[in-house]
Amino acid sequence: MTDVAGRPAAGPRDGAGPADLPRVGPVFWLEQALAAEDGERACPPLAGTVRADVCVVGGGFVGLWTALEVTELAPDARVVLIDAQGCGFGASGRNGGWATSWYDELQDLVARFGPEQAAWLARESSAAIDRIEAFTQAEDVDAHVRRAGTLWAASSPAQDGAWQAPQAASRALGLDGVVRPLDAAQIRARTGAAALGDGAFLPDGAAVQPALLARGLRRVLMRRGVAIHEGTPMLALERDRTPAVVTPAGRVEAGAVVLGLGAWAARLRELRRAVVPIGSHIVLTEPIPELVAELGWTGGELLGDARLMVHYAQVTRDGRIAFGRGGGAVGPLGRVVPAHTVDPRAVAQVAASLRRWFPALERVRLTHAWGGAVDRAPGHLPFVGSLGDHGNVHYATGFSGNGVAPSAFVARILGRLALGVRDAYTTCALVSGPPGYLPPEPLRSAGALAVRAAVERAEAAEERGERASRVASALRPLVWYTLPRAVEPRMWRRRRPRR
Ligand SMILES: Cc1cc2nc3c(=O)[nH]c(=O)nc-3n(C[C@H](O)[C@H](O)[C@H](O)COP(=O)(O)OP(=O)(O)OC[C@H]3O[C@@H](n4cnc5c(N)ncnc54)[C@H](O)[C@@H]3O)c2cc1C
Repeated sequence: MTDVAGRPAAGPRDGAGPADLPRVGPVFWLEQALAAEDGERACPPLAGTVRADVCVVGGGFVGLWTALEVTELAPDARVVLIDAQGCGFGASGRNGGWATSWYDELQDLVARFGPEQAAWLARESSAAIDRIEAFTQAEDVDAHVRRAGTLWAASSPAQDGAWQAPQAASRALGLDGVVRPLDAAQIRARTGAAALGDGAFLPDGAAVQPALLARGLRRVLMRRGVAIHEGTPMLALERDRTPAVVTPAGRVEAGAVVLGLGAWAARLRELRRAVVPIGSHIVLTEPIPELVAELGWTGGELLGDARLMVHYAQVTRDGRIAFGRGGGAVGPLGRVVPAHTVDPRAVAQVAASLRRWFPALERVRLTHAWGGAVDRAPGHLPFVGSLGDHGNVHYATGFSGNGVAPSAFVARILGRLALGVRDAYTTCALVSGPPGYLPPEPLRSAGALAVRAAVERAEAAEERGERASRVASALRPLVWYTLPRAVEPRMWRRRRPRR
């Protein structure tokens, strides 16, 4: 638990990881999920050398869904999954529980990939929400899934009309009804949020309790014979003809390796300039079902705004409001740092936003506050690629704060890549490596800090009804800045396979 200021107190903890891996903190979702696990089988650290068809590194949604995909496509395959901490202890067990598609960024998908691929990718991202629903039902995993859609509204006049571009793009692609405009009165009637203006409803979104989903995936994988080793960090990756993952007391030699490292992917030398770990923080109220009913927020919808430092919220099954905000601390040199997990300043700001949106919650107690690291990438979409010379080490990262549902889609790609399948998934536009590169250090960290501060100042001013300063307005667009792929350092380019 933390107090409102975000000071940490005792919470569930797990085994050691590398120095820059945070231990599991006071995350309500994880507390709830681990408490429900009484008597569940442990997944001890790896000891000795093992062989596998597929070795998955990372027990977040990307790794877990990938392992599941492999068990479905190749039931006899030997799959080993390792995680430095525990399954779901990274972003996957500590996020806002928004299972949402890419319908809200359709215009960007079209601009980058063309209409046909954009429509396919958006549909697949939405089908991933169906998959979560179907998986939890079929496998009897109660992850508190509520398929009630997403309310997306302007929290300052600067965001007015943010949904118009995706709505227009969806119409042009024949995807009518995936983005439905609402006025401020309709948003207020459904949520009681006083600070919001016009917005839109996206019917396909679902709220989930993410740690219950992650731990449920872990349980199902164990049932299917996947060997899971928690407290097992990858210390080295041998990018050889037979790739190997080296751990403190063992080694996995595999036909293929899949890396689902989330923000920790920024520590890989090839991806250091392609992803930046950025903090995101959540505060949680005590159970307030009566107040939630008075607000009128009883439909189970997700609720968020259109800022760059986006606010996201949901009502939990026991009537609490979980309210978060992205765009937190920047991880220097690609590191996940303690400020990603507990940042008192960010927590105070998120708590203030919650009270601004819902003045009726002024006196409500906040029982938990926590954060996590998001893998922010140029282009704001995940990308998939391969490392080394042999095309047998695959990765996905760059989910940029929208990975709960998309990870179930991207895992379809990774599972197929690991098994050597060539189809619409493994040849889709996301399988392209990093879409661009950030400048080298120290420019990267200094620039990220300056741009982040400018965005924060600009969006705060806009919420007060003021204009952003000229300097902040000039710096803000740099959030989308990347160096083109052409300037990718030569030493990182994939060489042709050695014979
Ligand atoms: C606070 C917060 C709120 C968010 N809210 C939302 C949301 O509401 N909706 C949404 O769609 N997305 C959200 N996201 C993003 C989303 O959680 C992720 O994109 C998604 O869960 C996919 O995560 P992942 O599997 O890529 O990474 P993670 O879940 O971080 O998993 C990576 C795993 O790799 C392990 N690992 C790292 N290094 C090593 C190593 N060397 N050896 C072995 N294991 C290692 C870690 O222990 C970790 O378990 C949020 C993220 C955060 C932090």
